[in-house]
Amino acid sequence: MKTIAVLSGKGGVGKSSIAASLAVLLAEKHRVVCADCDVDASNLGLVLGLREKDFTEWKKISTNEKAKLDEEKCSGCRKCVESCYFKAIKWDGEKNQPVFDGLSCEGCGTCTIACPEGAISLVEVQNAKIGVGMTKYGFEIVSGQLEMGETGSGKVVAEVKKLAAEKAGKADFMVIDAAAGIGCPVIASVVGSDFVVGITEPTPSGLSDLNRALQMTSHFGIKCGIVINKHDLNPKLTKKIEMFAKENGIPILAKTPYNKAFVDALVNLTPVIEFRPETRKFFEEIRAGILSSLQGNQKP
Ligand code: SF4
Ligand code: SF4
Repeated sequence: MKTIAVLSGKGGVGKSSIAASLAVLLAEKHRVVCADCDVDASNLGLVLGLREKDFTEWKKISTNEKAKLDEEKCSGCRKCVESCYFKAIKWDGEKNQPVFDGLSCEGCGTCTIACPEGAISLVEVQNAKIGVGMTKYGFEIVSGQLEMGETGSGKVVAEVKKLAAEKAGKADFMVIDAAAGIGCPVIASVVGSDFVVGITEPTPSGLSDLNRALQMTSHFGIKCGIVINKHDLNPKLTKKIEMFAKENGIPILAKTPYNKAFVDALVNLTPVIEFRPETRKFFEEIRAGILSSLQGNQKP
């Protein structure tokens, strides 16, 4: 199985739309599984027409630990309150005991060391979930969601990819919708991939964000290609992106002008390749570039 990760240096450039339509196109001739690794804003399922109720097998997982008090052991010395860098411990004057704010607690464990009575321990919290949905295009999608204010998205991504690999069976391709940016969840999404598709648009931050994202893929020695969305927004910047690609030996897989169909397709919970079949050529170019590279016709 070959793994294709679709990423973008910044949000709002059409990453999930392109990942969804690419998966639909690949699924016409190949066995596919999808992994929605954008766990802070997962919407690949929506783009493929699945609502949350269409997902089954939701499984709670834990990415973090939080401090928990054993009231019996607490002597009320207040040392824990002073020790918490994150200001996650308040004081209950009536009970003469600390109160832990679950949203602010980072699970660093400092208070467990500071407490002379051994009254604080770290306990796992189930703060994320992963589920599986079957699309009408004949392939499954594994999606992960982290609860509001929680940390540990990289771990959720790892669990999503693990479950997607289990679901893949004899799949030919896993298509990953990575989170935007270059943070921990993106790195977790991309690691182990065979090809990365970097989506960008000609805006001032588009090129620098793409550059940073592709530097990260280059660090892991993964082949990549660039897709320019809305290339007619700023022809000068589009030229700059093309020069950047040339100088770095990265192929431009395809480019497309601004097309409202991308937004309309999203609103209608339909992959744009189905919503506006005239966009098919654009996705065929992306697919051809990826397959050509995976067959060894392009150097990383
Ligand atoms: S585990 Fe760390 S963040 Fe949480 S309450 Fe203790 S010191 Fe504060
Ligand atoms: S440091 Fe331990 S004993 Fe002291 S107030 Fe905090 S929990 Fe209670």
